[in-house]
Amino acid sequence: MANFTPTARTKVRRKPERGSYDRELIYRILDEAFVCHVAFLVDGLPFVVPTNYVRVGERLFLHGSIASRLMKTLASGAPFCLSVTLLDGIVCAPTATGHSVNYRSVVVMGKAEIVEGEAAKLAAMRDFVEYVIRGRWATVHPPTEQELKGTTVLSVPLVEASAKVRTGFAINPDEEYEGAGWTGVIPMRWMSQAPVLDPRGNPKIPAPANIQKYSRPQ
Ligand SMILES: Cc1cc2nc3c(=O)[nH]c(=O)nc-3n(C[C@H](O)[C@H](O)[C@H](O)COP(=O)(O)OP(=O)(O)OC[C@H]3O[C@@H](n4cnc5c(N)ncnc54)[C@H](O)[C@@H]3O)c2cc1C
Repeated sequence: MANFTPTARTKVRRKPERGSYDRELIYRILDEAFVCHVAFLVDGLPFVVPTNYVRVGERLFLHGSIASRLMKTLASGAPFCLSVTLLDGIVCAPTATGHSVNYRSVVVMGKAEIVEGEAAKLAAMRDFVEYVIRGRWATVHPPTEQELKGTTVLSVPLVEASAKVRTGFAINPDEEYEGAGWTGVIPMRWMSQAPVLDPRGNPKIPAPANIQKYSRPQ
């Protein structure tokens, strides 16, 4: 599959050397991240709403209550912009303004299509659950017809997307390193903690490996 083509909207102008349209890189970032922020306009006012998504092939799927403003707006075909961010490190520089962060982020521009039909919605719900915790779907009750009716599922073709990646240390000139402050990078990683059993959960069911050793990407 070819890389993304930069468009007037996705051409990285600030620090373009950090920009990328590499499809594999963009998919890796999307698959590791968990939360996206969706920006859209309602009556000329901007909203940015966090939500979950799943990538399946060349598409992202979003889902939510049929009552959700986010879902209703996107379902109307309104253009939106979505981003995800992985924070990889805090960059300590010798100067206040030299501080930075190491990150991998993706911006997607798009329009959503409504996923119609019970079978297609059910398949998308399965993909959501498996995206969050692989192997989980087989162990839980599937959505009921009523639950599916109350859920909007949207599909977003991945057509316009960009990545931006910062790595490494501060980029201050050598002479600025003569001060007293420590310089370097504090690596950051998003990780799971030991799972906690629901008080109403069955203590005879041990947490399986996909829960005990949860990590991303799944
Ligand atoms: C965790 C984090 C912290 C950051 N902190 C700062 C900060 O403190 N100050 C600051 O100025 N910038 C910061 N950035 C970078 C910021 O995201 C923008 O890239 C930068 O501000 C330039 O914005 P712009 O509107 O001029 O981008 P432009 O280069 O004009 O953007 C044009 C197009 O490039 C693409 N693009 C731009 N930024 C990104 C991105 N991050 N990821 C994917 N595609 C992108 C989009 O498609 C966008 O429409 C941070 C980024 C991350 C992920």
